[in-house]
Amino acid sequence: MKIRVELPDGVRCAVALSYDLEMCAGYSPVGINHGRIMPPVQEYALSLCQTAEEFNVQLHFFHVGNGLEEDDVGYLEEILRRGNVVDSHTYSHLRLGTPDFKKLDVELELTNRLLDERLGCVSTVLRGPGGESNGLNGLEDNQRAILTNGFRWVTCHKDDTMGTDGLDYDAAAPSRLLPYTYPTGLIELPIQGWMDRSYFDSFKCVDQEAYDDWRAEHGHKPVPGDWKCPWTDDDALDGWIEYNLAALDFAYENGLLWVPTWHPYSHYLHDPQNRMLPALLERARSKPEKVHVGTVRDALQMLSPV
Ligand SMILES: [Zn+2]
Repeated sequence: MKIRVELPDGVRCAVALSYDLEMCAGYSPVGINHGRIMPPVQEYALSLCQTAEEFNVQLHFFHVGNGLEEDDVGYLEEILRRGNVVDSHTYSHLRLGTPDFKKLDVELELTNRLLDERLGCVSTVLRGPGGESNGLNGLEDNQRAILTNGFRWVTCHKDDTMGTDGLDYDAAAPSRLLPYTYPTGLIELPIQGWMDRSYFDSFKCVDQEAYDDWRAEHGHKPVPGDWKCPWTDDDALDGWIEYNLAALDFAYENGLLWVPTWHPYSHYLHDPQNRMLPALLERARSKPEKVHVGTVRDALQMLSPV
């Protein structure tokens, strides 16, 4: 079933900002993604919150549940206290398309319990780890496991066509993969456009060996303040900012909702001075008509079945 996006009165376009809070497998020497966030990435996430506050917007974080078993979750409490939102990203970064839907059920239940016990949160929207090329189409047991655990919404269907036809095509991502309903009633809000991980670490990777070497030696460890990424060219960050501004411009011109997905860890490595988020928020603020910048939960309020 199709879903219509109804923007609030007076709003020209909307952006739903979210970050998947995790220690990405792509930066792990042992290839394991988990939620035990190292302190510099915790600090980076808080610096994103600081930027958001300067523009009077809230951020949405999806967190891997095993990180909620850490002794100190003070940074998460601060993220919440500052008006931002935390939702589930499964317990172990389990793909939502997993054939083991019973494990999915167990993971979602456990993460819901941890979110409640540690943060007093009830998660209502689930972000699918890694994204799914075909969403959860044909996976009704998985959809039911998600619904059973209290979620009405999922955001996992990803755009595999990015990077195939130039910047204009990429910037038009908000016009592709629109929200829809699965046969079970679960609602999909797809991930639109580039994820930072795939942009910097695949699309803009010019030295795979340097990436592999760094990951084996230094992955999941803090980088020095003057560190420069050895697997991308110097202009990778400029390209990232240009793409995101172009996608916002496209959403604005066409009156669309745009749902990008990013990671604090990727930005910590590739945007250490935190340039992209302020540039995007500044561009949104500079538009003549109102741009609604908010969380994925805000965006869900704009959806209605057709
Ligand atoms: Zn993830």
